This record gives sequence, structure tokens and C-alpha cells, in this order.
Amino acid sequence: MAVLGDRAVAGLLSALAEAPDFPGAASFLLTQLVDVTGAARACLLRLDASQENLTLVAATGFEPAPANFSIPLNDLSSPLVVSALSLAPIQGHDTPVNRRGLATIVNWLILPMVQPRTRRSIETMPATQASDLIGSPAIRVLPSHDRRVGSAPAGVVLLEGPVSDAALESSQELIALASPIMARMATLHEALEQVDRLNQQRDRLTLMVDSLPDPVVITNAANDIIAQNHRAGRLLHARDDDSPGRRRALELNNLLFTSFLSKAAMSGGAQAGPRELNLVDPDEGNDLLFEVLAHPLGERVGPEDAVLSVLRDVTDLRRAANELERQVQRVRQGEITVRGERDRLNLVLENVADPILVTDQRSNIILMNDQAEQLFEMDENVERTRRELAAVRGNDTKFTSFISEFALLDDDSRRERMSLTHPRNGIELPVEVVSGKVRNERGEPIAIVSVLHDLTKQVENERLFEALKRLNNELEERIREATADLAEQNARLQWQSQEVERANKLKSEFLASMSHELRTPINALIGYSALLLDGVLGDVNPKQRDALKRGRAAAEHLLALINDILDLAKIEAGKMPLHLDDVPLNEVMLEVTQQIEPMVRKKQLDFVIDVSTDCPVIHTDRTKIKQVLLNLLSNAVKFTNRGRVSVEARCAPGGVRIDVVDTGIGIRQSDLQAIWEDFRQVDQSRTREFGGTGLGLSITRKLLERLGGSVTVHSIYGEGSTFSVYLPLTVPAGSVTEVGANV
Ligand code: ADP
Repeated sequence: MAVLGDRAVAGLLSALAEAPDFPGAASFLLTQLVDVTGAARACLLRLDASQENLTLVAATGFEPAPANFSIPLNDLSSPLVVSALSLAPIQGHDTPVNRRGLATIVNWLILPMVQPRTRRSIETMPATQASDLIGSPAIRVLPSHDRRVGSAPAGVVLLEGPVSDAALESSQELIALASPIMARMATLHEALEQVDRLNQQRDRLTLMVDSLPDPVVITNAANDIIAQNHRAGRLLHARDDDSPGRRRALELNNLLFTSFLSKAAMSGGAQAGPRELNLVDPDEGNDLLFEVLAHPLGERVGPEDAVLSVLRDVTDLRRAANELERQVQRVRQGEITVRGERDRLNLVLENVADPILVTDQRSNIILMNDQAEQLFEMDENVERTRRELAAVRGNDTKFTSFISEFALLDDDSRRERMSLTHPRNGIELPVEVVSGKVRNERGEPIAIVSVLHDLTKQVENERLFEALKRLNNELEERIREATADLAEQNARLQWQSQEVERANKLKSEFLASMSHELRTPINALIGYSALLLDGVLGDVNPKQRDALKRGRAAAEHLLALINDILDLAKIEAGKMPLHLDDVPLNEVMLEVTQQIEPMVRKKQLDFVIDVSTDCPVIHTDRTKIKQVLLNLLSNAVKFTNRGRVSVEARCAPGGVRIDVVDTGIGIRQSDLQAIWEDFRQVDQSRTREFGGTGLGLSITRKLLERLGGSVTVHSIYGEGSTFSVYLPLTVPAGSVTEVGANV
């Protein structure tokens, strides 16, 4: 065991200083110490950078090499910690160093290492405290070799003992000399480690920033780019091998970015909120939109006025936002349209007179108009009497069962008659329900719309129609019965009319033959009366004369009656012969007036005959015309007591018209029809005054019919009458056929 000479120490220190790194230096120091002390094994533990642990740095003589370990500085039971902190050597005999990997060392010496004291240095533990802490007879705290004020704990060297005092002295000295170099080397080592760590950190950060999809740029006050990430480089930094197009795009981007920064600086600084920046994609040529987030970096990094700008690519975001905005607008527009349509639909629903209901797939009513609410509304807010509630429930049950059945079918629509009850008045309401399914785009039914048509009128009409049909059938039946009756009556009437006709004919024939028998004796009566009155058969006194006159008058009346009856009978029996001739009307008129004149004079009436000169000659039966005119004129004179009677003959289309006008008693309007009937004298009281048979007008009319003419009357009761005769120029062929037949 040699005490080191000065040269050896100098060599040793020089070699130590030349060690490539701290662990190398530590190993070298240990070898020297092993050499000096003859220790079998040795190791060096050093305070780590955090100054909280003693960490194994180098070991020698261990087989295998001990695993790396650390001892926390607060573990004051460890002699290694106590020695390191108190800067006092500690020696142990037959007691193991209580530490894994070092447990096999039972005789040992711990030598503290020092380093120049700095602000961060750990306080040195007083030697007395070290002795107190150890408190074991096997372990001894040795007097400190070098406890200088400027020294601070730096670590320990553990040597396997036993170590001689001289070796202890030498090794303490060696450690004291080596400690500053070791401290320097440790610092350097730590610094290098720190550099490595920082480099790693920087690389990681660079990688991180470069892998960001957003460009990140640091600029100075002059807006020059100091640093940028990869993405920013691609947008702003031109390289030598770039194409001219790309270069132009990059120049433009730089310009845009610089002007953006200048504007930002002018409008309140870089951090005045996010702003938008348009750049060009140099690869694609597309427009890119960025949101720039600027942070002033202050003095932490680079120049004081440096600004970090993060450019967030919001092109897609903006496009998406625009698209979203458009969609929102579309949805809003859609909403407005839908709302409008819904309002319109509601308006339509509310204004439709028919109840309308919409039901869902479970047949629940989800929508209905006012009309439907009156029938189906079970809202608790609406006050309903029990009867009304029962009606509403009944309606609901009928409608729901119809809808449920329909929902199960595949059909798209269904109509059915249903009898509901009107809740308000309890009146039955026949309706036709027309329902249709509403399907979604997949064709699944989602709702059913039902319209209820009020059939009250239709049902009433049907009822009326049925009643009408029944009535009609009854009527038809009655008509059939009546027709059968009528047919029977007709047959009977026909038979009766034939009978009457036959009887009439018989009567006429009887009268014709009888009148001849009657006329002969009456003529005799009249003739003899005339002879008597004329005094041919001797004188008659006034009384006899009067009686004779009355008798003659009665006989004449009877003759007239018989003549009339005979004429009528002849006409009716079709045995009135016609003797047609050209008849000048004025001649006939003259003859008639001569006959009538005595009567007119007797009654002192004005008598006027007016025959138009241009009246044509008519071809007719002269006697019949005379008879007609005589009948009418004698009536006119008979029924006129004062005033006048006139006859006017005028041309008429196809014949002649003769008016016999009087200012007599006139005929009541109600009697104008009756005067034409056989034996009809309308005013019995008055005609008795005037006499007559009641056959004149009847014969007149029949005669004229026979001649193809006609007669009409116009009269004002109390004022007078006008009988108008029409005569055709010739007797029509139908009437003439019987001329001369069976006279
Ligand atoms: P009679 O022999 O009674 O005149 P007619 O057939 O000639 O029978 O007339 C029927 C009735 O018509 C008469 O009884 C008379 O009441 C009425 N009548 C006819 N002509 C006239 C007349 N010119 N003025 C008033 N009444 C007349």
C-alpha cells in the first residue's frame, strides 16, 4: 500500500481530467482507490441532479456488477447517506451495508466526496448528529479530514475493508484532490445529459409542430418569418427547385400574409382576436381560407416583439359552415312553407262543412276540425251533459272500430255508412265515412284521413222517394181500376147513346108523321075562325069576336109550335132538304122586312135595313135563309119595347155577315149558352109576356150549320142584343150530299 507521491497525484489528476465522461472518471478514481487501499470491492454513489438521492455511478470488483440503485437522502438509517451529508468517513466492522447488492460487504469504509458550495447545495450535517444517527458499536464515525466551509456534499465512495489508517489517510487525500475535478466532470456530464434531453425535447416539439396540419409561424416586428413549421414552409417558403408557378403562388402568399400582419398590427395588435386570411394552395392552386390566431411571444422566445401566428385551415370548415348555413336556410324556408301549408290546411279544414278526422296507426284521433270536434271531442275542458258524453262515446266507438278494421286491410281507401248521434240535440246523424290511408316514402301507412258526409238529406230524399214510389204504385193501381171502370162506363154510355139515338130517330119520325095529322085540323080551326071573324058566316057580336080571336090566336100558336117541332124533327132526322139557288141578299131582305113590318109598326120601333150594295149573290137555300132571318128579326122585335131594330148585311171573307141588332131587354151573360137549347126560354117571367116556343134559336143554329154557316150572339142585359150570322158563298160539299134525299 503506497502513499502517493506528488507526481503520482498530479498524473492521477491529469488522467482523471482526461477521462471521456463522468462514469469513466468515477471508474478510474475507484481503481486508484482500490490500488491505494487494497480493497477487494469499491463503488461510487453520487448526489443526482435533483439532489434528493444518492445514485450508483461506478463499481469495481463486483461480480456480477451491481444493478443500478439509489438511496433517498432522507433515509438517515443508511451510513452511506449520513457519511455523504456529514462529510465524515464512516467505518463498519462485521456489519453489512444495509443495501441490496452491497449486503455481502461486512467490513467497509465510506469516504465522503465534496463539491464547491453553490446556492443549490445541500446543507452539511454536523458531525455530532452523524454520530447520534449511527449509534452502533460496529459502526464508527471517523474524524473528518476536510470539512471546509466552501465544501458541500457530493456523494460517497464505499471501500470493502479493512483499511489501514495510512490507506485511509491516502485515500481521503486522494478523494479530496479528485473531488473538484469529479464535481466539474459531474456538472459537465449533467450539462451534456441536459443538452441531450433538450435536443430530444426540441426534436419532439419540432416533430409535433411539423406534423400539425395548421401552419405555425413566428414573425418579428418587421413581419419577417423567424420560424415556421413544415406546413407553413410549404405555403410561404420558396425553395430553389420550385417551379415558377409555385414560386409565384408562394410570393403571393407571403404578400398576403405580410399585409395581413401589417393590417393586424395597425388595428390594435396581433392578438386582437382571430382574423381571416386568404392564401393560395401552391400545389393545387385552390383558394385556402385561414383563421389566424396570433400570440405575442414577449421575451420568452427570440426578440421581444416576436408574434406566434397559428393559421387554422378553415377552408373546409367554412365550406361546411356555408353549406350548413344554406341547409339551415333551406330548413327555415321549408319550415315557413310547411307552416304556411299547415295554416292553409287548417284554414281549409276549419272551413270545410264536413267533419274531418286524422287518426294514427293505433286509431287514435290526432287531428280534427271544429265540425268533427262537435261529434267526437271528449276534452275535459268542454262541459258536456251525461247524455252528450254518452253520444260522444258511442260515436267514438263506432268510428274507432271502423278505422281499426280498415287499418288492418291492405286497401288504400274505404267508404261506409254509419249512424252517429249528434251530442247537442241527440238527433240521429246518418253519415258516409270516406277514409284514405296516408303513406310515407317507404309506402308504410302512417295515418288515416276520414271525411264524414252528412247523409241526412239523402236519407230523407230516399225515404221520400220510397214513399213517392209507393204512392205512385197505389195511384197506378187506382188508375188501372178507374180505367177499367171507365171502359165499362164507356161501353155502357156507348150503348146508351146508341139507344138514345135510336129513340130520337123514332121520336123524330113519330113527330114528322104526327105533325101532319095535327096541322090539318089546326089549319081548319084557323080557317073557320077567319071565316067567322070576317062575317062570312053571319054577324058575330063583340064577345063572340073576342072569343074567336083568342081561339084563332091559340090555334095559330099551336100551329107555329107544331111547325117548329116538325122543322126540328126533320133536321134531326136528317130529312131537311136543301134547295140551292143563287140568292140575291137584298131580295130576301125585302121579303123578310115586309113580313116583319106590321109587328114593328105595332110596337112603334125604328126599323133600319142596311144591305151593302157590293154584297155578292150567294148560292144557298132561299127559304132557309128567310126562316133564319125571320126567327132572329121576330125575336129582336119581340124582346124590344122601344128604340130600334136594324139589319146590316156586309161582305165577309168567303161569304156574308148579317147582324140583327136590337135595343131590347138583352140577355144575361149566364144565359148566353142556354138560349140555343131546345124549348129553352131563359127568363120565364118575361118570355111569358113575349110568348114563343123556345125552339127558334135552336132551329136557326141547326139550319145555318146545315148551310155551312154559323150564328153567334153578343148581348148586354138591359141594353140590347146583336145576333151575327155568317153565310158562306156556297154551301159546302159535305152538306149538299143530302140534297133532295128522301123529302
Ligand atoms: P122563343 O120562341 O121563346 O122566342 P127562341 O128559341 O127564339 O124562343 O128564343 C129563346 C129565348 O132567347 C127567348 O125566350 C128569349 O128569352 C131569348 N131571346 C132570343 N132572342 C132575343 C132577343 N133579341 N132579345 C132578348 N132575348 C132574346
